[in-house]
Amino acid sequence: MNFYSLQDPSYCVSYEAATIKGQAPAKGLFFPEKIPVYAPAEMRALLALPPVDLAFRIMQPYVSGSIPDEVLWNIVTATIDFPFPLHAITPDISALELFHGPTLAFKDVGARFMSRCLGYFSRHSDNKVTVLVATSGDTGGAVANGFLGVEGVEVIILYPRGKVSPIQELQLTTCGQNITALSVEGNFDDCQAIVKEAFTDEQLGKKYQLTSANSINIARWLPQQLYYFFALQQWNDLDAPPVIAVPSGNFGNLGAGLLALKSGLPVQHFIAACNANDAVAAFLQGAAYTPRPAVSTLSNAMDVGDPSNFIRLLEIFCQQEASVRQFVTGYSITDEATLQVIKRVYQTYGYLLDPHGAVAMLSLEQYLIQHEKQRGIFLATAHPVKFPDVVERATGIQPDFPPAASALLHKEQHFISMQPRYDAFKKWMLER
Ligand SMILES: *Cc1c(COP(=O)(O)O)cnc(C)c1O
Repeated sequence: MNFYSLQDPSYCVSYEAATIKGQAPAKGLFFPEKIPVYAPAEMRALLALPPVDLAFRIMQPYVSGSIPDEVLWNIVTATIDFPFPLHAITPDISALELFHGPTLAFKDVGARFMSRCLGYFSRHSDNKVTVLVATSGDTGGAVANGFLGVEGVEVIILYPRGKVSPIQELQLTTCGQNITALSVEGNFDDCQAIVKEAFTDEQLGKKYQLTSANSINIARWLPQQLYYFFALQQWNDLDAPPVIAVPSGNFGNLGAGLLALKSGLPVQHFIAACNANDAVAAFLQGAAYTPRPAVSTLSNAMDVGDPSNFIRLLEIFCQQEASVRQFVTGYSITDEATLQVIKRVYQTYGYLLDPHGAVAMLSLEQYLIQHEKQRGIFLATAHPVKFPDVVERATGIQPDFPPAASALLHKEQHFISMQPRYDAFKKWMLER
């Protein structure tokens, strides 16, 4: 399949080229030429397959022409070698737990899929690929883990100093090898702005073959739709599809869900669950889309003021704002309410939420109050242990450390401090 630029639809390239470039000229985002559509009977047959077979079938049309089937099979098998359980919390609300991967947050699937694709694409070339990635917390860890030791690829991660949790910072800064962490004295939007600028910089383009591993990269973005298929595989009544609430920051995950919807996945409705960074939530409630500077919240992976993937949401609905609003409802949840829901859900059901899952669960509850007889799923995007301070503040207990996280505590951290200015970053890149 080919992918066109949302800046200039006549710019159209293969899956391989779109993955390696990351972004089209003039900061354009790539978008699939044709979203595969499955009839209801076909969809039921797909959902009855084992997860790896299902994942292979869903991804195959997108990567065809760039990745042979047997290679894709290996990539998919290696990418989803952990469970995605649907955990019932109440009769009407279940959590799809996406935090059983190596870095304990949902970004592992996209990062692992993308790193293996890039590894395949750089198999013959002596030309090293440099992955540049801005992270609000979890992307960096997932990308570092997914790319660690991948030959022909180096990774540079920009993260906002003091605005990621201690475990997140350890995941970013303790890898070494082909992974370099830059601690930027600013917020996520500063990091993202630097990365976007770098891709348009001809001087850097001469020295490096740069690509992105944010959800602007299609190889990161597209496999995230698998979560929604896995959710429906575990849903007991396909004739009464679920409402799905997605904790959203840069809107890659929700956008991937909407792709799945377009492909014919039965979903009743989507909820964009946001924290105080409510540009998209306000749009969905009827306002004009107005990006704003990011503000810090307890659900820091969603502290994004101008989400990159918003334009893809519109494209999925052919740029019809009214259609987006018809299929997606937006909520903005305060930190105060986030703490309360973590406490209430723990005390009432004995289930420990992380702050991102909490934002989504509360949004879903609010929606279901107004839509009786519907039931829903929210995406639990991170393990509560990634946000121990918030969880302890809300519940008084400390979440247990899974073994994957405890090994990190003994590793040495390495990072380079960076001013939140493009010229400082560029100078460093040209001199290294
Ligand atoms: C990245 C992240 C989000 C937001 O996902 P987007 O695709 O950027 O909207 C939500 N929760 C967690 C835990 C994350 O790491």
